[in-house]
Amino acid sequence: MVNFKYIKAIPGSNNSKFPNCTSLLIDDGDIIALIDPGAGQGALLNATGNCRVNILINTHYHFDHISGNYLFPDAQLFVNPIEIDCFPNLKEVAKLLGIEEIYGREGTLDWIKRVSAPHSPQSEFSPSNRHEWWMSTRFSASPYSYDREWNIGKVRVIMIHTPGHTSGFCCPYFPDEGLVYTGDIDLTNFGPWYAGSDGSIEKFIASAYRIAQLDADWFLTGHQVGMITKAEFISKLDQYIDIIDKRNKRLNSLLESGIQPKELHQYGLLYSPEYQVDPWIYMWERITIRKHLELNSSKKG
Ligand SMILES: [Zn+2]
Repeated sequence: MVNFKYIKAIPGSNNSKFPNCTSLLIDDGDIIALIDPGAGQGALLNATGNCRVNILINTHYHFDHISGNYLFPDAQLFVNPIEIDCFPNLKEVAKLLGIEEIYGREGTLDWIKRVSAPHSPQSEFSPSNRHEWWMSTRFSASPYSYDREWNIGKVRVIMIHTPGHTSGFCCPYFPDEGLVYTGDIDLTNFGPWYAGSDGSIEKFIASAYRIAQLDADWFLTGHQVGMITKAEFISKLDQYIDIIDKRNKRLNSLLESGIQPKELHQYGLLYSPEYQVDPWIYMWERITIRKHLELNSSKKG
């Protein structure tokens, strides 16, 4: 485990696999801040003990990075300026995430009804109906600035805008500690995720290579991989980004074999068809296909 003066990684439950993530604790002796409280209730309460959390920071609005906001109702919440309208507004979440694109306004209202209720039936494949969606977006937030120095007590952080995973997604960079929290540029075998309505393949790639240039010794991913050196991050990055190309090649070969674009989701570019019984998995599969088709036609054009 690497030790930093004021920063501690909080490994999430189940190896920080989705729908959990690795969270970050900042404690300079005066101020306690949590970045992306998605590690799971037990891990978060264990790490913060009986101390009052003053500041909560979300790198983006996704469930696995905000789910524990509600555990710290007295903290001041900071969110990126692009996604600030999600707090408190689940209609905005539905727009960015893809619910409105695939299921329309009615689907959005149905979803809000489900997550507002504490005991809605759950899916085993996604956190689509989890009540934390509602509880953790209920309070209003203040925006932080991108790409500018921000002092959280004695700790300097720069929220590097790294769009692609979501439009507002950012990676906290701690120049004094030589640490980057790469969040969902996570180097997992699953590969890059840009399946929300607001995701972008091209921006994801550009952002991933941008953070690889930062002057930092340590890179902490939000899921599974965890704390690695800069050299390790760079050495794994090409293979991770290459998964996008593999998806694209598969999509093109399906099209060449005569499969119609509207049938493509049945072949599981991102998620195997058996998981698509979950309405969100189906939704993200469809949006991912749309993005790859758009990217290919923009390259041809
Ligand atoms: Zn995410």
